Amino acid sequence: MRVLIVQPIHESGVNLLKSAGFEVVYASNPDPKIVAKEIKGIDGVIVRTAPFTSEIIEQADALKVISRHGVGVDNIDIESASKKGILVLNTPGVNDISVAEHTIAIILALSKRIRDIDSAVRIGKFDIREEYSIIDIDGKTLGIIGFGRIGSLVAKKCRYAFNMKILVYDPYVDEDRVKGVDGELVDLETLLRESDFVTIHAPLSSETKGLIGEKELRLMKPSSFIINMARGPIWDETAVAKALSEGWIKGAGTDVFVEEPPSKDNPLLKFNNIILSPHMAALTRECVMRMAMGAAQGVIDVLTGKSPKSIVNYSLLKKYGKL
Ligand code: NAD
Repeated sequence: MRVLIVQPIHESGVNLLKSAGFEVVYASNPDPKIVAKEIKGIDGVIVRTAPFTSEIIEQADALKVISRHGVGVDNIDIESASKKGILVLNTPGVNDISVAEHTIAIILALSKRIRDIDSAVRIGKFDIREEYSIIDIDGKTLGIIGFGRIGSLVAKKCRYAFNMKILVYDPYVDEDRVKGVDGELVDLETLLRESDFVTIHAPLSSETKGLIGEKELRLMKPSSFIINMARGPIWDETAVAKALSEGWIKGAGTDVFVEEPPSKDNPLLKFNNIILSPHMAALTRECVMRMAMGAAQGVIDVLTGKSPKSIVNYSLLKKYGKL
């Protein structure tokens, strides 16, 4: 059986597939038009962030499993896959630690102005120290949008390591879970008004697309910061740029963009008071191994008739009578 890897993964996952007896092939380019031509005769695929569209799925004649290396599955046309009875898997629980640590790195970089002070020292502006412009995060309020695996871990670490006060907005969790990290479940407006730091950890969906726009950013304190660790389209990049330039907020951080890589004229690239990273919160050495092995194991499980750990489209497969 043949497994197609759309974008490179850590060799540990490739070796796992090979040792299970599968032939591993690589897409010559992640462009859906090219993958659609190369999908014929493929039994399983491992997908990272490149779009895995209906155009590809329509051309698949042997495909049984799409295994997402990571968590967010918004790049996969799950509906089309489910109609064809193709299982869509992901690897939850393997990147929580890495993304939570990256979030905290950005919270600290913003509060301590790491980017600015490093540049200042290099150009002889040692007196930046007299501005008294950096802050402690101890006792500050952290608002978490999306209290799943990553959001709840950020909450736990920030509550207990940094003594931050935790507010949570998540319509799908109950109060007891939030109380478990000594936090408080609130509505989105309260969270935006009261938080010193807001961090986004919800999945991209029709409900969360554009969740943070001009109206929401205007509710935030001028001294506050907002961080997007989830998906670019959850916030309106133009509105964030406006908030940064007009001082509705103090600063921001993001690991994700509406278009990746962002084009040169992306408005967020113009500001110094935003920390940018290239969608790599989960790409620590440890995490890429966990994701590669998890995604490969999912393919092996399905193709050898075992139950995979995490089926994303279980209810859709049922709906289309494919289970
Ligand atoms: P998860 O499924 O464990 O948690 C998501 C949480 O968001 C759930 O608690 C859910 O109830 C909540 N949610 C759903 N709709 C919401 C809404 N409208 N408003 C507020 N909350 C809502 O997922 P996770 O593992 O914590 O990952 C969260 C997201 O982070 C992923 O979907 C992915 O897009 C993103 N992510 C980014 C990176 C990265 O490299 N930057 C890595 C991993 C995951």
